[in-house]
Amino acid sequence: MAKLHVITYGCQMNEYDSERVAGLLRAHRYELTDHEADADLILVNTCAIREKAEDKVFSKLGELRALKARRPDVVVGVMGCMAQLQQGVVQKRAPHVDLVFGSAAVSRVAELVERVRHDRRPVLETGEAPLVKITARPPSANRLKAYVTVMEGCEKHCTFCVVPRTRGRERSHPPEAIVDEVRGLVAAGCREVTLLGQTVNAYGRDLTPPTDLAALLHRVNDVAGLARIRFTTSNPYNLTPRLIAALRDVPKVCEWFHLPLQSGSDRVLQGMNRGYTRAQYLELVAALRDAVPDLALSTDLIVGFPGETEADFEATLDMVARVQYDNVFAFRYSRRPGTPAAEMADQVPDEIKAERNARLLGVVGRVTAARSARLAGQMVEVLVDGTSRRNAGELSGRTRCNRVVNFDGQGRAAVGDVVSVRVTEVLPHSLRATLTTAPEEIVCSSR
Ligand code: SAM
Repeated sequence: MAKLHVITYGCQMNEYDSERVAGLLRAHRYELTDHEADADLILVNTCAIREKAEDKVFSKLGELRALKARRPDVVVGVMGCMAQLQQGVVQKRAPHVDLVFGSAAVSRVAELVERVRHDRRPVLETGEAPLVKITARPPSANRLKAYVTVMEGCEKHCTFCVVPRTRGRERSHPPEAIVDEVRGLVAAGCREVTLLGQTVNAYGRDLTPPTDLAALLHRVNDVAGLARIRFTTSNPYNLTPRLIAALRDVPKVCEWFHLPLQSGSDRVLQGMNRGYTRAQYLELVAALRDAVPDLALSTDLIVGFPGETEADFEATLDMVARVQYDNVFAFRYSRRPGTPAAEMADQVPDEIKAERNARLLGVVGRVTAARSARLAGQMVEVLVDGTSRRNAGELSGRTRCNRVVNFDGQGRAAVGDVVSVRVTEVLPHSLRATLTTAPEEIVCSSR
């Protein structure tokens, strides 16, 4: 077998695509290796969301130039969002790259690699193609938890974001194909799936007949043997009462919800073209918490969007305190070529972005610590997914609210079990707990 090394940057969708590529290439006699020095084929799966992500890719490609000089037969490929958006720049700055292909060409990866080997010249493939559901996975993929892409693309046109230009229009996979994929994963030992889409809660609008994420959650819930369902990323604009009801009513759907706010200022939200106001967002949060009182809420926030004033920024801090998030992903605004915000006047200087980011993280730290403290003494359900990083004698897993928990399995619990534990200690990044039930006694009954 030839050896394949995949380097993945960016979001869960990229992780999913990397797995599919490895699965497809396995059928063409490529097995995964963790060591790039051993590889015959190196694929770099890229992210274009922020400048920093692109810088990391170019620095990696710079490193690979030396390897390629030593071993010219190694094929180096660049895939994913940056390949789609910056194909010319990639070819110019990294002429040693043999293959550049976008997400639409993932299903044809084996043919493209073959073409590079046969023609002995660079291949570029970034055109559009029909949506294909690929289910191949390498044997090394995590058995217990899996991502399942349910739709591709984004049509939101937020003024800061490159995604509509890298992943194209919204296209949903048919529910039957998704359920089949989940069944196959469960048959191979999977217990938890995360359904993925750039705006996952816009799922199904483009299908004939149209459907929605709520209906899909009910169908995936019916897959026997599956314990948990998560989904991400939702956009407040598409958050319907039907989806909120599904969060409450579909037993396997976890009490975990990621709802990007981006900014707490109405003026900035309008400049971002987000399509909601802070008052509307707060109404959604109230409806969510009303339906699922112990819901863990997380969000994405951008600081330093063009024109953001101190008052706008303070409105964001105020929202963090009001909503009481369990987790926050804070980003400094990054000027992305070709997006409307990149051309806006009043770009915020880097020092102000850095200062606001630090202040935001301070408020986030206090809010999330207070949320965590509430867990002390509570009984929580854990899907055991491995051993503790600090102590190999202990088990580790995640709660339905996605917290890491470490505990002594007392020989009564094993990887793959769903067990009940009582939280004894709340640490900054994890919980400590004691086992309270035998495995499987409380599968999916945490509400
Ligand atoms: N589709 C989702 C949405 O818009 O709600 C989020 C997808 S994006 C991969 C993840 C996060 O990256 C966004 O929610 C946003 O906070 C951040 N992001 C996107 N473009 C950005 C930019 N130009 N600068 C800084 N952060 C950005």
